[in-house]
Parts: sequence; C-alpha cells; structure tokens
Amino acid sequence: MTVTHKSRMLILGSGPAGLTAAIYAARAGLKPIVVQGMQPGGQLTITTDVENYPGFRDTIQGPWLMEEMQAQAEHVGARMEWDQIVEVDFSRRPFVLKGDGGTVYEGDTLVIATGAQAKWLNLPSEEHLKGRGVSACATCDGFFYRGKKVVVIGGGNTAVEEALYMTNHSDDVILIHRRDKLRSEKILQERLFAHPNIRVMWNRSVGTFVAGGEPEKLVALDLVDENGAPAERIEVDGAFVAIGHAPATELFRGHLELDSDGYIAVEPGTTRTSVPGVFACGDVMDKIYRQAVTAAGTGCMSALDAEKFLAEADFEAAHHEPVREAAVG
Ligand code: NDP
Repeated sequence: MTVTHKSRMLILGSGPAGLTAAIYAARAGLKPIVVQGMQPGGQLTITTDVENYPGFRDTIQGPWLMEEMQAQAEHVGARMEWDQIVEVDFSRRPFVLKGDGGTVYEGDTLVIATGAQAKWLNLPSEEHLKGRGVSACATCDGFFYRGKKVVVIGGGNTAVEEALYMTNHSDDVILIHRRDKLRSEKILQERLFAHPNIRVMWNRSVGTFVAGGEPEKLVALDLVDENGAPAERIEVDGAFVAIGHAPATELFRGHLELDSDGYIAVEPGTTRTSVPGVFACGDVMDKIYRQAVTAAGTGCMSALDAEKFLAEADFEAAHHEPVREAAVG
C-alpha cells in the first residue's frame, strides 16, 4: 500500500537552511515535514570545529550543532522523514514528490534546501587527509592554519577569494592552478597578483597529498607539471581544494529555472523560484556566501515567503468563490 504524507509545507534537506525553515514553519502552525535526504544534517556533519556560528563562545562541533537544530525543529512541531526524493511533479497542486521506496509526499508549498557539495580532486591521499590538513573551505577552517604555510588549489573566484582570505592568517600562501590563466574576475586577479604574501604556481596539479608526523597529517604536496617538467615536492601545512561546488539540483532540472552554474534561480531579494509555491534556500541557490549562518538566514526567508504565499492563497480561496450562474426561467 502506498504511504502518502501531506503537509502545508514540505521541506527537502536538513542542513541549516532546511531546519531553520522548519523551525519557522512549525512555529507558524504549518506542521512542516522535513525530508532529510542522504546526508541528514548536511555539510556541517562532515566538518569538525565550528567557531563562526554566532551564539557560542567556545568552539562547537558541526554534527552537534545540526543535532541541536533538528531537536529544536522537532520540539516546535516539525516532523522528520528519512527518504530520498526521486521524482517531482510541480504541474499539480498540491505538489507531488516520490521517495525511492514509493512513499508519496504532497505539499501545498515546497522549500528546497538540498544544498551543494564541494568538488574534490578525488585522490585517495586527499580522502585520507580530509580534516587533517586538507579542507574545501578556507572560511571555515582557515583559522586553524594561523602562521602556517598553505596552498589553495583552483583558478576560479572561489580559489582566488580563498587565497586572499588566507592572507588574514598566513603570510605564505600559494595558489596552484592547472593552467596558465585564471578564470576568476579581473578585479580579484588584480588583488591576488598585487598581494605580497601570495605566489601563484601555474600549470601544476596535485599528484599526491603527502602524509607525515604522528598523528598523521598533511606535510607536503607532490605536484605534477602539466607541461611535462619533472614532478616536485613542496612542504605545506594546509591545502584548500577550491575547484567549485556542485549544487544538488539534478532532480529539478526541467521543472525549475536553474542558472548557468546549475543553482536554483530565485527572484532577487526573495527565495521565490520560477514555480509559484516552490521556494529555495541555502547553498542550492547561493554560490557566493555558502555559510551555515547565511543558509539559516535564507531558510528563515523561505519559511516566511511560503507562509505569505499560503496566506494569500487562502485569502483568494475564501473571497473568490466561483460565481454561480443565476438560474434562468
Ligand atoms: P569555477 O567552476 O568558476 O572554477 C573552478 C576552478 O577550479 C577552475 O579554475 C578550474 O580550472 C579548477 N578546476 C576544476 N576542476 C579541477 C581539477 N580536477 N583539478 C584542478 N583544477 C580544477 O568554480 P568557483 O567555485 O570558483 O565558482 C563557481 C561559480 O560561483 C562561478 O560562477 C563564480 O563566479 C561564482 N562565485 C562568485 C563569487 C563572487 O561573486 N564573489 C565567489 C565565489 C564563486 P580551469 O580554469 O582550468 O577550468
């Protein structure tokens, strides 16, 4: 028998965006259902120390923060469902979504908070040293490399911004790029080239992240020269992989407007998508800020936007009853 869950507000994703939307929606009496997805808690569950989420003087742990957010959402009345949505139908009202086990979810509104994943180089040595010198977020982890030698890998806006950001902590920053040209904006490039504490190593790729010490951590990189020069080893304390992010939007392709990078397009200053009643928040629509606190902020916006949408729809329904034809005769 098919199980059907109905809600005035369905929320996909359970990172800071989805859970904040759930807290606001539940407190507005909308009894939201949160479909948690493959990685309940989102990207923060794979980070460790968090020192930039406001409200905590001491360092907190990412997984703990997400457990607390979920507990708060449940406490105020949100319901969690563990499922993976594999099909959406936005042509009907309510919207219909299907989970991979066949469960059906119906929502008068939908908040999409499916997030994004940092892209990695996919080297075994990278996997081995993640969280021990190898990171994909300088804003999150840069502080731990105060006074250390670090590299940033990539040539886009993210890489250049992360290299510039790292100069707040380190006076020895190297940008490693696989080509001889950056693709980042000109103004960022100018700031990068003008900075006395940043060097660029062109036409290089990382062959291996080298582990050493006890306990084991990143100590060096083996670099491959793209023009065929002999490989070289450089000693480093930290490496930030900044080769782009992939928003989790495959499910919505063809159903919602996406931008040229695959992020969900929203009306500026709102979380409204191209389909009325569908809202997007967090990293799935934000390629610039990508912080837990900004995701939580747009999650709040989504719940408020969706609540307003429902109130207007209810008002319409109550005040615009179909006019009955007067009986003739
Ligand atoms: P981009 O896709 O723009 O850049 C990725 C970079 O990583 C490229 O230089 C690419 O090299 C390199 N790269 C990709 N794969 C590999 C690999 N396997 N090995 C080595 N290098 C690799 O990603 P960004 O995250 O920088 O930006 C994504 C979007 O977000 C862009 O539209 C950007 O403008 C936007 N953005 C805007 C910001 C702002 O406005 N402040 C801040 C951050 C992002 P190659 O050049 O050779 O392809």
